[in-house]
Amino acid sequence: MSESSNEKKKSQYEHLLYKKKNAYELMSDEEIVSCEKFAEGYIDFLTKAKTERLAVKEAVKLAEAAGFKPYVYGKKLKPGDKVYDINRDKALTLVVMGKAPLKDGVNLVAAHVDAPRIDLKQNPLYEDSEIALFKTRYYGGIKKYQWVAIPLELHGVFVKKDATKVDVSIGPDKGDPLFTITDLLPHLGADQMKKTMAEGITGEGLNVIVGSRPLKDEGESKVKMQILKILNEKYGVTEEDFLSAELSVVPAFDTREIGFDRSLIGGYGHDDRVCAYSGLMAVLEQDMPEKTAVCLLVDKEEIGSEGVTGMKSAYFDCFMSDLCQSEGTTIYECFANSFCLSTDVCNAFDPNFPEVSDKRNNAQLNYGLSILKHTGSRGKSGASDASAEVIAKLRKLFSENGVIWQMGELGKVDQGGGGTVAMFTAVRNIDTIDAGVPVLSMHAPYEIISKADLYMTYKGIKALFKNN
Ligand code: MN
Ligand code: MN
Repeated sequence: MSESSNEKKKSQYEHLLYKKKNAYELMSDEEIVSCEKFAEGYIDFLTKAKTERLAVKEAVKLAEAAGFKPYVYGKKLKPGDKVYDINRDKALTLVVMGKAPLKDGVNLVAAHVDAPRIDLKQNPLYEDSEIALFKTRYYGGIKKYQWVAIPLELHGVFVKKDATKVDVSIGPDKGDPLFTITDLLPHLGADQMKKTMAEGITGEGLNVIVGSRPLKDEGESKVKMQILKILNEKYGVTEEDFLSAELSVVPAFDTREIGFDRSLIGGYGHDDRVCAYSGLMAVLEQDMPEKTAVCLLVDKEEIGSEGVTGMKSAYFDCFMSDLCQSEGTTIYECFANSFCLSTDVCNAFDPNFPEVSDKRNNAQLNYGLSILKHTGSRGKSGASDASAEVIAKLRKLFSENGVIWQMGELGKVDQGGGGTVAMFTAVRNIDTIDAGVPVLSMHAPYEIISKADLYMTYKGIKALFKNN
């Protein structure tokens, strides 16, 4: 058989087709090495950034090492200046001043550092049947059955009446104890197994085991008393201090490479620390951009971007206002000429659940940064729906900068949906579009992403900072 007859015939109109390609078919060997290196840094970050407070703390450490200084309100900055501003320990803004004035707008990347988790109630500690437990209320959209019978860490802060803060972080050190929520043994699960998955484990049933050893003492609740004694010795707190505490339990899983080929990363809280890290690394590398580069890491996205540290907060306007004032510019002028990449994760096509996605329009693992024209649900309800002009601009930027990307969409029409911070930057008259890393098992205690998609997200954000 001759060689030519083996060749697949190609249509002369082939060039008219749009075909996306797997990033590994497009990346050079050199780029794959950079991608692996970037993933290492991210694995380290995600391992440490288990809450929004810890994510901000880690981000500030990296920013200071890169020469960023705390922003001083009212002080005029010059091109090349690198500053950061912390919002109540839970959100962070990083800025590298560009050559162009602020009235020409900024290139903004916004991501969130909060993630679904289980928060303690304000009166959490009790004893039942000589076991000490914490009452909880979950934060964000979780499938409750996924959070039982897994190891949990405890993180957060006690703020005492005199305003002194005591940090709590139990779990990261291998010598630390862990916590857990029980599930029912299958032997006695006959009634439970007849329930729907939404009802099999209840919100009020998510009580965390924290101890079982009674104090050698007189009186009642000796197991609970033992826990209070330990907390008092370690943190100097009493039961009343829980009233002004913010403590969360999060999965105690290691962030690790997944698969024989190590192409994926498993960990807790990829949503959305994977985009937060990509944005952070991209802004830390800026030196003297044309336009001012801004990276915004916000809190409370998982509960609707509410609150003083969420994207709806006027904090961002106050900060940008102060920055603009020193140049005699209003934020209105600045925002009108700005561009925002709202970087948040989207769902990756899952071969275990093909029925929820339109494969032609769903993001796929290893196909690069995923752009979403809109999020929301039903008929684009709750979406900011970026314009074709905005997408065109990105297409050009990405193709000029070798960014591998794909178009994504959050599941089939009428299957469900979700939102991001995009609508809250768009409503400020900033051209905004969603972009991010596709995730498998999103919002589960252990989520999966691809290293190639992570790297292309970072590369995409760097391309945005070149936008003038
Ligand atoms: Mn998210
Ligand atoms: Mn989310």
